[in-house]
Amino acid sequence: MVVSDILKVKGNAIISIGAQDRVAKAVQLLTANRIGAVLVLGERGDIAGIFSERDVVNALHRHGEAALGHAVGELMTTHVVTCSPRDPVAAIMGMMTVQRFRHVPVIDEGRLIGIISIGDVVKSRIEEAEAEAEALRRYIAS
Ligand code: AMP
Repeated sequence: MVVSDILKVKGNAIISIGAQDRVAKAVQLLTANRIGAVLVLGERGDIAGIFSERDVVNALHRHGEAALGHAVGELMTTHVVTCSPRDPVAAIMGMMTVQRFRHVPVIDEGRLIGIISIGDVVKSRIEEAEAEAEALRRYIAS
């Protein structure tokens, strides 16, 4: 299984926000779309950063309720780790575990084509394990 197998199932939707938008808007997007992170895009569609629910919690800790009025650009992570659609899902799972984040944008030949989350990765790994177990059961029974 590679990253593009996940995108084939979940699609290429990317929920994004601008760096000048407020944290309150990010919270609204996270809740409305039931997601854990939004990508922060520049005017030309380039990745400026990523802003996740973890960043919301950190911002609330640092600024109290005033955090909601801060610009996302002040609080986002600017060094965004990305992956290729050809990367094995197992490698992305290892990367998310070691680097402690749960969202990875997918870039194909310089173009942003989607984002995958730890939930997508775990679902894919479970399906793969179940398919392998079923193949083994059939092989033993035959
Ligand atoms: P998450 O586990 O995805 O909620 O994110 C935990 C922290 O890592 C937050 O500060 C995010 O802004 C940051 N983060 C999330 N995804 C990435 C990524 N792909 N590259 C770099 N940082 C990230």
